[in-house]
Amino acid sequence: GQCRVYCPTGAISIRTNTGSVWEALNDENVRVVAQIAPAVRVAVGDYFGLPKGRSVMGKIVNVLHRMGFDEVYDTSFSADLTIMEESAEFLNRVQKGENLPLMTSCCPAWVKFVTDQYPEYVKNVSTCRSPQGMLSAVIKEYFRDPQNAQGKKTVMVSIMPCTAKKMEAERPNSYTKGEKDTDIVITTTELIRMIRTSGIDFAAAEPEACDMPFGFGSGGGVIFGVTGGVTEAVLRRLNPDHSKTTIENIASCGVRGEEGIKEFSVPYNGMEVKICVVNGLGNARTVMEQVKSGEKEYHLIEVMACRRGCIMGGGQPTRAGERTKAARAKGLYNADNTMIIKKSDENPLVLELYNGLLKGKEHELLHNDSY
Ligand code: SF4
Repeated sequence: GQCRVYCPTGAISIRTNTGSVWEALNDENVRVVAQIAPAVRVAVGDYFGLPKGRSVMGKIVNVLHRMGFDEVYDTSFSADLTIMEESAEFLNRVQKGENLPLMTSCCPAWVKFVTDQYPEYVKNVSTCRSPQGMLSAVIKEYFRDPQNAQGKKTVMVSIMPCTAKKMEAERPNSYTKGEKDTDIVITTTELIRMIRTSGIDFAAAEPEACDMPFGFGSGGGVIFGVTGGVTEAVLRRLNPDHSKTTIENIASCGVRGEEGIKEFSVPYNGMEVKICVVNGLGNARTVMEQVKSGEKEYHLIEVMACRRGCIMGGGQPTRAGERTKAARAKGLYNADNTMIIKKSDENPLVLELYNGLLKGKEHELLHNDSY
């Protein structure tokens, strides 16, 4: 059998969700499945004395397996699904001239900001679930098949850079078949606490690969954790060419950089696609006011509520100076650089999923019907 680590302190905290994760890990009748968001992997290492911003994804996977997680998956895989769905939605809206600008939906704090402050723009928000929502829905659907479930209940734990993701998981309009897809959300700092509790020597852990069949994301999926990443991945998807030059040209089109508001346009099929990439809710308000007054017009607006994107989420270790912030962004771009597959539509696992489990269920599993 599998070795399960018990929580030596027995601490079940009401303020955090680590207690319920330990409980699930200690239950033999439960299959505990983890997903790890892109931003998490570049924010854990320095706590354990490793270089700032270096991706320690392999070590996290190893440690989670040793804690007793049955399967460990990469949220950058479902970020690829988000790109597939959001690109299709974007082209569809452009064709019909409807509900433009398209506004991204992967940051729940931003989605809440729109629904509360600019309800007239809710129809502009992409109907795509976030990568967290998509992956949990797909995994839960996979285990609805009794052959896959093998008599075990599945508990889906997602490891995320912020507490807004906890709120997102509870939003009933993101459930599938009336059931919650993500059972427990823990933040990066809660993960660090669990690693400390387990007594496992993180720095010495050997890197390990994620499990199949949802364990691989493209480079486009990994850069979701930094501001501009979603847009950059969409631009890769929209471009039929996958040469190194094209990928580099997209990277230098204005999409990268830490500025709070970035505006640029890219040619696509005879049109100039006008894009605005925003991070920070104060900046989002500025852009929304300009859009509302008609002063600015865009086709696509990406918003991340946290400055610089999820790498600086509220659930990440917070004492991050300028060097740490820059190192985290660099860590994600480096992870992308080492990927053979850079485009979401070239991820073979994504294509397999569309031809199999997702067939006819794309809308049910990958979209929200309302906000
Ligand atoms: Fe969470 Fe911030 Fe990322 Fe939004 S930008 S999903 S609030 S970490």
